[in-house]
Order: sequence, then structure tokens, then C-alpha cells
Amino acid sequence: MAKRAGPMDIYPLLPQTNCGECGEANCMAFATKAAEYTLGIKACTPLYREREYADKRDKLEELMRPPVREVVIGSGEHKVSIGGELVLYRHDLRYLHPTAFFVDVADSAAPEEMKKRVGEIENWTYVYIGMDLRLDGIALRSVSGDPKKFAEAAKRLGELTNWPIMLCSLNPKVLAAGAQALQSKRPLLYAATTDSWQEVSEIAMKYQLPVVVYAPGDLNALKSLASTFNQMGLDVVLDPGNEFSAALGSTIDDFTMLRRAATREGDEGVGFPLLASPISVWGDHKEGEAEELAKWQEVLAGASMIIRYADIIVLHSLDMWVQLPLTFLRTNLFTDPVKPVAVEPGLREFGHPTNDSPVMYTSNFALTYFTVESDIKQAGIDAYLVVIDTEGLSIQSAVAGRKLTADVIAEAIKESGVEKKVNHRILISPGMAARLSGETEEASKWTVKVGPKDSSGIGPYIGDELWKKE
Ligand code: SF4
Repeated sequence: MAKRAGPMDIYPLLPQTNCGECGEANCMAFATKAAEYTLGIKACTPLYREREYADKRDKLEELMRPPVREVVIGSGEHKVSIGGELVLYRHDLRYLHPTAFFVDVADSAAPEEMKKRVGEIENWTYVYIGMDLRLDGIALRSVSGDPKKFAEAAKRLGELTNWPIMLCSLNPKVLAAGAQALQSKRPLLYAATTDSWQEVSEIAMKYQLPVVVYAPGDLNALKSLASTFNQMGLDVVLDPGNEFSAALGSTIDDFTMLRRAATREGDEGVGFPLLASPISVWGDHKEGEAEELAKWQEVLAGASMIIRYADIIVLHSLDMWVQLPLTFLRTNLFTDPVKPVAVEPGLREFGHPTNDSPVMYTSNFALTYFTVESDIKQAGIDAYLVVIDTEGLSIQSAVAGRKLTADVIAEAIKESGVEKKVNHRILISPGMAARLSGETEEASKWTVKVGPKDSSGIGPYIGDELWKKE
């Protein structure tokens, strides 16, 4: 396995002045966080500001370079980073950059049709435990094969959207026309092959654009293409080819082999982001067959490739039932396995609370919070809810792990400012934290009433004014 730098490898390359500019108490604390990739080395500002540290900085950058290079597609606020991964298995640390979803638009689309499709791509969203699940980019596909038409479509697309764009054609003349039209938007060029690499490399060099190298079924050729483009200083993405309908298993094997070689065997020649095209299932779609069949295949291929290391996938279907499982899968795979999903602590108001309204508290574990939020909203209650920082643990775990104690609750109540909003001092505790009631009363000087164990009981509990009774 390629060795990851530890704090003791990083520390000697820092200025070692303990200046605190990075926000850490000293350089050793910084080295520890940098080794975990929770703090980027650029946070050590003296390292980048002072000339005397230039040598150390270069060595540190080399040391910290991820085995899979990071590639940025697009520019401005919507640009997307792919790759930059450190590990093969999520439990070895965590995955860093979620698989980017690009959806196709054909260059043959009429202006109104293109506008509608772009709008649908940009507006596709689903709210999942407080996060907006979204797509990431648009793949402009040359259907016409005509450089002039492709350039016109690229220009139109560039006027319609600021999202990252991928230009797709195996004809270098078509790619050149599109690249010229969108050069300032840093599109991803798809693709250079063993036949076209020279022409495509000239386009990529001219506009300094990232490029996909494509060698279906020939990993040696793929590696050779990648090495050529990399030596030119260009950002590279690998497409080893996709055979979803006929040979999904061997496609998965190729992706796994490439990522394993990069992260476990330290093979720099394949240390680049991987691209998969579930959209290719539509190429096997036969006339008269139900479209749903191709969509099912697209979901299966997409899911397989997200799990098997694809850093970017190209899709066609925009149906909610196609995108939803894929976006859910991506979100769950790319969360930090040691860090529970949490929401911001602080005071939340529901309905139109007055100074007589109930005050409750809960933890900042996202699943707990959104369940409680949903139950309060459904019950139509006017209330205050203090969300306490339990480091993302549920109430039960936080009580057991001493992340939720009487002192923590008292402090959170004080900091939330709820004391100024109500004219009473009654705090409703979740039933699961009942055993903290006495200590919480002492620490906070509030009267604690134990609410229901399950937040679905909040409606009747508040509605019947049980919290006001002895
Ligand atoms: S900014 Fe750099 S030199 Fe200063 S404490 Fe942090 S790591 Fe050390």
C-alpha cells in the first residue's frame, strides 16, 4: 500500500515557529491535522509567504500529493473538482470528492430544446437530511459531427449556463471548434485516443484544458496516453472504456485495477480521475424496446461505477427515479465514516412562537434533528428548539458518551439566547435524556419537563399542554 505521510513526516517541513497563523496552537498540532487531511497545507501561510521556506513547501507539496491527481472542470463558483482521492477503501480514511454527475445535451438540439434541457439539469434537486442533492455539469455531445454546428451549440450552451461543461467528440476538429467557443470556461475535452492524441493535445495545450484519454480495452495504451499528456503538464482523466450491457464485470475489474494500482501500489502512471459513461447503455437500446429498460440499466451501471471509483459519470436520463438512487448512493458513500452527519447547533423557531411558547432541546445529529423538525412541523406547533452540539451523536449515544451532560445543556440554553425570548423557564427534555433532568435543573436553573421518548409524541404532548402541568 502506498504510504501516507504521518505527522512526523510533515513536521520537519513546516517553519516550526509555532506562530499560530494557521489557527492551531503549534506546528505539531497542524502536522497532525494535515496528516488526516482535515487541514490543507495552504493554511500554513508563512510557508507560502516567506521565501526562505520555498524549498520546504515544495517538498511538503510533493509529500502530500494524493495518489490520484485532482482535476478541476469549469471556472467560477460552479467549478467542480474530481479525483484527488487518497485511499482505495473509504474506511482507510474517507473519500474526498464526490463523483461528479454530468448529463448530456445534444448539439443537434434546437435553441428552445437546449434551454429547456439545461434548465432541467440545473434545477434537478432533492432535499435529503438537510442537503440539496444536485447534479454537477453538462456534457455537450456532438451528434451532428459538424465542427461548425458544435461550435454554435457550445457558444449557445456557454450563454445559457455557468455550470462545468464537457465537450464530447472523438473528432479533433469538432473538439477544437467547441474548445475555441468555450475556452474561458475550462471545459473538459472528451476524448483523445491513440489515433487522435496529437491533434487533441494541441487543442488542450493551446487553451490549457483538462482532457480525457480513451483507450477501450487496452490499459497499456491508456497508461501511455496518460503519461504523454501528463508530461505536457496537462490535467488528465482516464476512460478505460465501458461495456455495461455485455461485460459490466470486466468494466468494474478495469476500474478497480486502475484505482488499486494508483492508491495501493503507488503507480503514478494511472493516478488520475476515472470517467464512466452509463449513458452508453442507450447505444444498445433497440427500437421498439421500452425506454424504462435502458433507464434501469443506466441506474445499475451508474451505481456500479460510483461504487467502483468513478470520479465522474455521464448520464442521459433525468427522471427522478433514475437520479435519486444514484445521488443518494453518492451522498452516503462520500460522507466521512467516522464523522456523523450533523446540523448547525443553535436556536430554531417553528411557526410563530411567542414569549409563552414551549422550549425543547435536541441533538445536532442530522437524522435526529430532521425527524424532530418534521414531527414539530406536522403537528403545527409554535415552539423554540435548541439544537445542542453533541458532535453529531444521537441523544442516547450522546448521553452515554458524555457529549450531552447537564453542563452542556445549560451552556447551550444560555448561548442560544432563548432566555430573552420567553417569559417562563420550562425546558422540555427528550424522553431519552430523562436521567439528566435533575442535574440540568441545577446547572441551568430551568424546570425540566420530560417529553416523549419518540418525537412523534411531541404534537399531543404540547397540544394538551402537558408540559405546563405538574
Ligand atoms: S502557520 Fe505554519 S508555522 Fe505557524 S503554527 Fe501553523 S504550521 Fe506552524
